[in-house]
Amino acid sequence: MPTFVPLLNKEQISRLPDRAREVVEYRKSGLSLNHVQGCPLDCAYCIRHTYGLWDARQPRALMTDAEAVAELVNHRYFQPHVTPVQVFNRATDPFLPAVRPHTFAVLEDLDARGLRNHVLVITRHQMKPEDIDRLNRLISVKVTLLFTYSGIENKDIEPYPSHVAAESLKLMSAPRERQYRTVLYWRPLVPGLNDSPEHLDRAYELSQHADATVFTGLFYRDQIADYYRANKLPEPYDETARRKIVPETLERRVLSTFAGGESLFRKTSCAVSYAHGEPDYNGHYGIRELCDICPLAQLDLCASAHRVPTTDGIREVARTLPEASGLVVVDITERAAIVSGLAEEQPRYYLQHALGFQVHDVRHPHHDRQHGRADIGWKEPTS
Ligand code: SF4
Repeated sequence: MPTFVPLLNKEQISRLPDRAREVVEYRKSGLSLNHVQGCPLDCAYCIRHTYGLWDARQPRALMTDAEAVAELVNHRYFQPHVTPVQVFNRATDPFLPAVRPHTFAVLEDLDARGLRNHVLVITRHQMKPEDIDRLNRLISVKVTLLFTYSGIENKDIEPYPSHVAAESLKLMSAPRERQYRTVLYWRPLVPGLNDSPEHLDRAYELSQHADATVFTGLFYRDQIADYYRANKLPEPYDETARRKIVPETLERRVLSTFAGGESLFRKTSCAVSYAHGEPDYNGHYGIRELCDICPLAQLDLCASAHRVPTTDGIREVARTLPEASGLVVVDITERAAIVSGLAEEQPRYYLQHALGFQVHDVRHPHHDRQHGRADIGWKEPTS
């Protein structure tokens, strides 16, 4: 099968950074497939900085779509009908003109296998009316289109205009009957840059078109901060963090703008699950303070699916993973299982999705009211 973007040869692939060569990687919201890498949209805060791929502006493939899907579904982390999947969310935009045939090829291959997994597709690009029909032909996989929209007007930070994503969201959300769901992925929210009352009001208006909205902040990692400094971009924070940054006052202002609305979420998995009428697949229900903005019917749904696992149950699920052989279950509460002994995060995400329950690493505790968020902009972490 030909690829629509240039196919790298073995030698070119061997010169890529290690993490770029890993085409299947577990990230928080799902198992991520990234055999096409490279993007010309140049968002200054792009996660490509952290993979050593910032200079890859032209999309290129590391293998064919068929090989990539085979690698995904045969991966030890992949569970049919259970594991949430994300396509091209790390190093390219799935609806760039050259990339979109690959995106459809992957979706159609997964669908033809009768898989019922969630598949998340995150884009800020232009979508077309014919995309509606093509996506509606997918009958098995649960597709969610997440439209990245920030409202940032500074072209040095985000050269590709936000209104394109807004139009795509409206277009794809318009049909009353459709197989897929749409989410307004409102990010990155940055104080002083895109948080004026007008910005918030525009996002609220846009949210009325989507099945659900999720808001989140900036991943301000060291490599991204270096890029901001080198290019004299206005630095949003004076320190970096491993989690996304959403300062407390900004969160309060977002919630008050959306007061009375019924489909705003703090977590991507919550928005996606709600849009499909399912309990949160990441098991956030245990973290009660996350749910105070959730519709009652959704709360009931998540409550009915909430099962606190036992230590033996967690060990049993981890048994198939060699990299989890050192797993220690430190504590289990109504909120989460606390574990140690995992060298990296991927097996933890596997456990989380397999159990439908939060699994936290003892080295990275979550604080009350700011689950999954950096401490920056929060006065008193309470636990
Ligand atoms: S009830 Fe809680 S866990 Fe479930 S979708 Fe709502 S916010 Fe997420």
